[in-house]
Amino acid sequence: MATITMRQIREGEVPFDGGTAIQDDADRPVFHGNGPDDYVCVVCGNLLAVAMHPVQMTKKVRVRCGRCSTVNVSVIDGYEAPSGGPKRKE
Ligand SMILES: [Zn+2]
Repeated sequence: MATITMRQIREGEVPFDGGTAIQDDADRPVFHGNGPDDYVCVVCGNLLAVAMHPVQMTKKVRVRCGRCSTVNVSVIDGYEAPSGGPKRKE
């Protein structure tokens, strides 16, 4: 399991869809997945999401840190999940 530092959203970077998850409790991660990576705040290192798949952490996923109020986005710049989501087996 890897720990990935998210990045701070750029000024003027306007999200075209999705929403910002707000971490109410700084001791409780906003997302729980079943993937390989944990994601932490770029500024304070607070744990924001645990056990996430990379495909779940696109730019559509933003988390406002409950500790320092920084809005974090995924580090995978420009990456978007393929349209229609993960390929389904026919
Ligand atoms: Zn933080």
